[in-house]
Amino acid sequence: MKPDRPITDLIAENRPLLSVEFFPPKNEEGGEQLLRTAEALRPYRPDFVSITYGAGGTTRERTFKYAKILRDDFGWLVMPHLTCVGSTKAELLEIVAGYHADGIRNIMALRGDPPKGQTEFAPCPDGLRYASDLIALIRGNFPDICLGAGAYPEKHPEAASMEEDLRHLKIKADAGASFLTTQLFFDNEKYFEFIKACRAHGIDLPVLPGLLPPLSLAQVQRFGPMCGSSLPTALLEQLQVVDDNPRAAEAVGVTWAYHQIRELLRHGSPGVHLYILNRSASAITLARSLERAAA
Ligand SMILES: Cc1cc2nc3c(=O)[nH]c(=O)nc-3n(C[C@H](O)[C@H](O)[C@H](O)COP(=O)(O)OP(=O)(O)OC[C@H]3O[C@@H](n4cnc5c(N)ncnc54)[C@H](O)[C@@H]3O)c2cc1C
Repeated sequence: MKPDRPITDLIAENRPLLSVEFFPPKNEEGGEQLLRTAEALRPYRPDFVSITYGAGGTTRERTFKYAKILRDDFGWLVMPHLTCVGSTKAELLEIVAGYHADGIRNIMALRGDPPKGQTEFAPCPDGLRYASDLIALIRGNFPDICLGAGAYPEKHPEAASMEEDLRHLKIKADAGASFLTTQLFFDNEKYFEFIKACRAHGIDLPVLPGLLPPLSLAQVQRFGPMCGSSLPTALLEQLQVVDDNPRAAEAVGVTWAYHQIRELLRHGSPGVHLYILNRSASAITLARSLERAAA
């Protein structure tokens, strides 16, 4: 099996990258929806796609299955996610070895959230405590794997301060992360400030901004606080006006994300990562508008 290209090679090409994130569906119907979305996105050729890893380590097989489908049937570069939740070090290494044997050379390495009902993250016996531990483990055993890691422009919700979170991020970078992808944000200023703070803390990795094209007022009001992402008043006001019209609300969300992307790229971001929640409509509109803008 020919090994995949590391994403860092694409970043080094210095052109705006488009990546999209899928989650592994729970049932057949969800599987069909994912495939329809992937089919609709095919003409836009994302530079890479990531496939999340479910809470509690429950999607080990499904993440692997959809990573393979999206790579083999769609020809895309894939980046499966992996978390420390519910696995021993030996099990984590076994999962990575499976990807490696299959030619996969890009993994997003995360700690994961505490399982439902638990407020604090507790590593499983013989497991790992932080994403930096997982990165060090993979880096030590599979030096040719390109490792993505999570970053939080408005700080990770558990961190006492931005300063503390940045110190931890530096540990993650030093452990061998290859690039960072951010938590979703709606206010570009947060990303620009974050990049400055990273550089001031000696974190020189490329930072791919993660965006969620908003679908409705209810959605941003749910996701914003959950992810620790602030909600600009202008976005809330615009969504409020069209609250009774889902199509108009989606159009507002796409326009918001479009302007975010244009500004981010103008300021030199390495591309954009779209949290598409297995839906294609807004991603396609954004990809089209970006093509038009680039033409
Ligand atoms: C791009 C992206 C993709 C994601 N994909 C998934 C997914 O597929 N599946 C999933 O379940 N979740 C996913 N998440 C969510 C993620 O698992 C949670 O945000 C989780 O709470 C933290 O993961 P992390 O890898 O950032 O953890 P870490 O980097 O380990 O950080 C977690 C907390 O611990 C602190 N910390 C880190 N290192 C140290 C240290 N050495 N000492 C003390 N404190 C420390 C940090 O400041 C932070 O508050 C994703 C998040 C992002 C940004």
